[in-house]
Amino acid sequence: MTDLTLQEKAALVVGAGFWGTVGIERAGIPPILVTDGPHGLRKQNAGGEFSLGDSVPSTCFPPAAGLASSWNPALVERVGVALGDESGVEGVGVLLGPGINIKRSPLCGRNFEYFSEDPLLSGELGAAWVRGVQSRGVGASVKHFAANNQETNRMTVSAEVDERTLREIYLPAFERIVTREQPWTVMCSYNRINGVAAAENRWLLTEVLREQWGFDGLVMSDWGAVDDMLPALRAGLDLEMPGPQADTTQSIVAAVTSGALDEAILDAAVARIRALAGKASAPRSADSFSVGAHHALAREAATESMVLLRNEGGILPLETAQAIGVIGEFARTPRFQGAGSSQVRPTRLDSALDAIAAVAPVEFAPGYVVGAGLDAELLAQAVAVAVRSETVLLFVGLPAGDESEGFDRSHLDLPPAQLALIEAVAAANSRTVVILSNGGVVSLEPWHDSVPAIIEGWLLGQAGGAAVADVVFGRVSPSGHLAESIPFLLEHTPSYLNFPGENDVVRYGEGIFVGYRYYETIRIPVRYPFGHGLTYTTFDYSNLEVARDGSRASVTVTNTGSRPGKHVVQLYVAAPQGPVSVPRRELRAFEKVLLEAGASITITFELDDRAFSHWDVRTSAWLVSGGDYEIEIGRSASDIVLSRTVVRRAAKPARLTLDSRVSEFLAHPVTGPIMARAAGNATDGAASLLDMVASMPMRRLMRFPGVGESLSRIGILIAVANNPVVRGVAGWFRRR
Ligand code: BGC
Repeated sequence: MTDLTLQEKAALVVGAGFWGTVGIERAGIPPILVTDGPHGLRKQNAGGEFSLGDSVPSTCFPPAAGLASSWNPALVERVGVALGDESGVEGVGVLLGPGINIKRSPLCGRNFEYFSEDPLLSGELGAAWVRGVQSRGVGASVKHFAANNQETNRMTVSAEVDERTLREIYLPAFERIVTREQPWTVMCSYNRINGVAAAENRWLLTEVLREQWGFDGLVMSDWGAVDDMLPALRAGLDLEMPGPQADTTQSIVAAVTSGALDEAILDAAVARIRALAGKASAPRSADSFSVGAHHALAREAATESMVLLRNEGGILPLETAQAIGVIGEFARTPRFQGAGSSQVRPTRLDSALDAIAAVAPVEFAPGYVVGAGLDAELLAQAVAVAVRSETVLLFVGLPAGDESEGFDRSHLDLPPAQLALIEAVAAANSRTVVILSNGGVVSLEPWHDSVPAIIEGWLLGQAGGAAVADVVFGRVSPSGHLAESIPFLLEHTPSYLNFPGENDVVRYGEGIFVGYRYYETIRIPVRYPFGHGLTYTTFDYSNLEVARDGSRASVTVTNTGSRPGKHVVQLYVAAPQGPVSVPRRELRAFEKVLLEAGASITITFELDDRAFSHWDVRTSAWLVSGGDYEIEIGRSASDIVLSRTVVRRAAKPARLTLDSRVSEFLAHPVTGPIMARAAGNATDGAASLLDMVASMPMRRLMRFPGVGESLSRIGILIAVANNPVVRGVAGWFRRR
């Protein structure tokens, strides 16, 4: 790095402003513009650093909570392409997204910006987003790495998470995107992980990210996540944002000069900044995309983001001819995105009221003032409209002030004025359809049973209003499925006792049992399970065929109704309990299919070893435990329709020592049969005696009088068992 002075190198690793990196023209390093993300481009107008609303207009696609319900990576990739095009025109080098943190609690204020409670779904959709954006020559910044699952004290809180939980729940979506899509950048989170700030976490930023996953891009900080850039550089952070920070630059120069910071570390970060700058392309011409086409894509994405939760008596879709009462301010003034850094200025905004009125005779009543208490006059007016209407479309949801980046919610309830409105309207008109606008999960209690139909509309982006009309009138069949569980009670949620923590520490006490992994395992009923979603037709499954080792599964799905429709085929794997506890089932593959009425398709899924593995903390590696695994096809995580059992053998027998447990000797392909035979030949009760001592280390067992003699050959047995050739042959016989 001889063409740069130490001062220049130290300046390069800190941002040039809120949204840019330092450029050094003499050395051919251009500055790069980075902007939020993720569901639209928030390129701020000059001078408006803190004014979130003052940005160039851009298409507002459905935020991740909605988009995730599409379960459609191909659609998400197209949204990514559109975002990449809009970024390219604005000269943006890196778009700050996707946000792929796991929804640990429905209370997280930023859940609207995240995909799912499930790492596979989050990873697949995040990967599609990155693929799309980067295909247009614009980089992604996968965020927030890692364990940033709440907003409360997000800059200081320590997420106390055991390694198995990190590896199985909180890291795999990042791992999938990094290993498959090579994102240009990763953004580290604000929080601490097991006491160490993400920005200074060498285990996370270097060992896991670079050494184990092979990441060769740049790691930038979240905005203001760095306390001290020296330990951060040593840990593997390349760029502190925002900047400039004159103190930091000077401290880096001083540390290199005094030998406190190895210059090679600075050089590596500078090399990554140069590589990133080399990838960014010149701004593209404004006509390289059509605002109208992107609005149409936003509308298509919004139709796939809605989840039809309930449709008693097939009340939806509606005939256009009937008199419709449209009630609720959100029909006229849509709530279409979340608050905080992701907030974009849309190019257009469709309201559901206009879109519905364009196709049917409509009478409107606002019913409530968003954010205000009960208004008896508005309530009475709404009830009068409900009485006069054939069908009511009732728009309710969370006011914008209730959920945002920066704080968490404290409850799941709709505002009291809206709860009263639902009960009053439903009592006045039995054909009431509730359409929800909310970024995080809301409770459907106590009103759920009083309405025949519910559409979970999440936040649908700028074309959501038109998309609602498309779905309600059946121009498009709904095809969203829940990417997160809807519980009956907040108190049922797995993190309830440990959210958002205390004294700046949050203990992930539920471990791997997040979302449906918890509800299914301990059999707590939820109002709607992960994966649930109805449409206007019906689907049946048949012919589940699974390879003997479970590596491949195929199933036929048939549209048995009278309309075309899309359906998500969900494959879960249920691992055997022991030697570690495992969730009742876990999503391991999925595919969305479009089928004409009466049509069938056979889907084939490939399952690799990871689908059958857990993270083994003893060996720090993925491990398949031997045993019976169920391969399940479900309509949701709690509605399994077909299943087959496959037997998996442990991938590699454990290496035995005198400290191995008796159970490990019994499970080993060499020593197991020998000991079982010895036990079988022994007097009655020997087998149960073996069970009794199964957890004992062999060394301890040998100290028991009488055992030592009969196990005197144990040393030889261990040597033979650990011989790779013997182990290989024994393993082969076992697997047959
Ligand atoms: C957010 C990031 C965002 C950044 C820049 C931070 O507060 O956590 O998601 O990209 O600000 O706006």
